[in-house]
Amino acid sequence: MMNESIDSLMNEKRRFAPTEEFARNALVDESHYAEAADDRLEFWAKRARELHWHEDFTEVLDWQPPHAKWFQDGKINVAYNCLDRHVEAGNGDRVAFYWEGEPGDKRTITYADMTAEVKRLANVLLSMGVKKGDRVAIYLPMIPEAVASMLACARIGATHTTVFGGFSPQNLRMRIDDADAKVVITCDGFNRKGKVFALKPTVDTALEKPGHNVENVLVVRRGENEIDWNDDLDVWYHDAMADAEPEHVAEGMEAEHPLFILYTSGTTGNPKGILHTSGGYLTQAAYTHKAVFDIHPETDVFWCTADIGWVTGHSYVVYGPMANGTTQVMNEGTFDTPTPHRPWQMIERYGVTVFYTAPTAIRSFMKIGREYPQGSDLSSIRVLGTVGEPINPEAWMWYREVIGAGTAPIVDTWWQTETGAIMISPLPGITELTPGSAERALPGIDIEILNEKGEPVPEGQGGLLTISSPWPAMLRTIWGDDKRYQETYWDKFGDKYFAGDGARIDPEGDIWLLGRVDDVMNVSGHRLSTAEIESSLVGHESTAEAAVVGAADEATGQAVVAFVILKERFAESFSVEEGEALLRKHVASDIGAIARPRQVFIVPDLPKTRSGKIMRRLLRDLAEGREIGDTTTLADASVVKAIQEQMR
Ligand code: ATP
Ligand code: MG
Repeated sequence: MMNESIDSLMNEKRRFAPTEEFARNALVDESHYAEAADDRLEFWAKRARELHWHEDFTEVLDWQPPHAKWFQDGKINVAYNCLDRHVEAGNGDRVAFYWEGEPGDKRTITYADMTAEVKRLANVLLSMGVKKGDRVAIYLPMIPEAVASMLACARIGATHTTVFGGFSPQNLRMRIDDADAKVVITCDGFNRKGKVFALKPTVDTALEKPGHNVENVLVVRRGENEIDWNDDLDVWYHDAMADAEPEHVAEGMEAEHPLFILYTSGTTGNPKGILHTSGGYLTQAAYTHKAVFDIHPETDVFWCTADIGWVTGHSYVVYGPMANGTTQVMNEGTFDTPTPHRPWQMIERYGVTVFYTAPTAIRSFMKIGREYPQGSDLSSIRVLGTVGEPINPEAWMWYREVIGAGTAPIVDTWWQTETGAIMISPLPGITELTPGSAERALPGIDIEILNEKGEPVPEGQGGLLTISSPWPAMLRTIWGDDKRYQETYWDKFGDKYFAGDGARIDPEGDIWLLGRVDDVMNVSGHRLSTAEIESSLVGHESTAEAAVVGAADEATGQAVVAFVILKERFAESFSVEEGEALLRKHVASDIGAIARPRQVFIVPDLPKTRSGKIMRRLLRDLAEGREIGDTTTLADASVVKAIQEQMR
């Protein structure tokens, strides 16, 4: 018999309450939940009015499913809120960024510095003919000019689309064309893994074929590598900035003015150009940043490790933290160059208090060993965060023990490019934490877990995660393709947003994310999620990382197939056959025979997107012996070959 819901196998009992001291000093208490439950729209209006509005709004929400307009008759300038406002309030000397290049060069940039930079850059863009509503592509590494570029666009009402610096010419061109960008901002090259990585040539190749409408390429000097120069298009950033007027007055934009288009990571298929607008987006980015990370801007030092090419870099490096006037740390290059001590030394150097990263990074820290973090003084840390994938309890405990001194609350934040800001998360001063659970919908957010027919699933059972009321930072459409917007997110449940993820709520009311609905396996009529079986595999002492997929099986419909990376010190301690048998048995005894993998492949690496997420659809292709699908968003194509070798 076929179950409607997703079976749940995990049973995590550990609970961690905030310390009394933390709870006492926390910014947000239970009253926010009560306030939002009482009058959701008023709750968000109040949060919106914590920002500066050039003109106040009278209408909070206009909801014509599936199109929402928030604060639509108000006028706001997003960049003004992130810059001038702090300078005018007397906080111009506050550090906005402590930045470090990979070779070890350092810059300290205050809010006054950044405001001056963005004003000039706004004038540069205007002088290039960029008008309100035009699109600008930003193809830059993690350097302060990337932040300035986003804010300069926001300041003049140009809509930016950032493209991750690791993407190929074709990926870049597809985004330039889809967004119809008028200007591209890039750099000569940047530092990564001890080398200078040329970036400008990728733009040159991307623009080789005619048919685009790019009129200028603004080039930041960073790598100092030799590059080709096209006099018709190319302009040095430093030359243009030296010539630019220093003053620029920010004007209010309509609250629904398009702020940015961002293409999703492409974990499940072809990336979608997600459109975000101004007032609602900034309201929720700023509120969630403050509430979820308990940000006290006068004293906290925040470090979100995400690249500005991803939504996390938009909402929790640029817009949320800067709207709150937060001091941040930012770095060019990777965490293991020059040595794996780098992130921990930076935390010690700048006294980082709040650290936000992805489970994939945490698992790689675990893999290389705790001696690295233990080599630095991490006692400044008081809150830890994670985003991007479900975090397994094993990694959660390690993060808390080794990075958080066994006391720092961990906020496991669930959200998507589409949601624009955090939706489900603990609040660190209130929530009793359970390792592996994202806990509760934030105040003002309505979550429901439904079965395929749109009915709520019984408590404890897994189902489809939906958002049942519009939220301020929600996507407004897919750029240029409103039909795809409707089909992807709304056709299934009408006026409830279908997120594409599985989830369940346990009897205590905690929400557990179960992975992507597309990845759910059907074994002998039981619907099994990837997250719990992967969690069990990673719970074994020998395993560093694991991915499971469902592969067609004559006897059971689908069978569980697992791909496992062993920890370095276990790689030699048993044969491949022994390892496979051991892990199959481990899953069966840990969570049940139904979840026992039919096969376990010990592999050197897993296929991941450039933002570090496992691409299970490629593993499914491998497990079923098919030609593998679209790999354009894959970080390292050689990984697939290495796995194929192992499977022979
Ligand atoms: P695409 O939509 O193109 O396939 P993507 O979904 O990977 O790409 P993102 O918007 O970057 O693109 O990722 C959002 C997804 O990441 C969520 O839908 C969810 O599957 C996963 N995710 C994010 N945070 C968490 C979390 N805290 N716990 C579990 N899963 C998470
Ligand atoms: Mg997605």
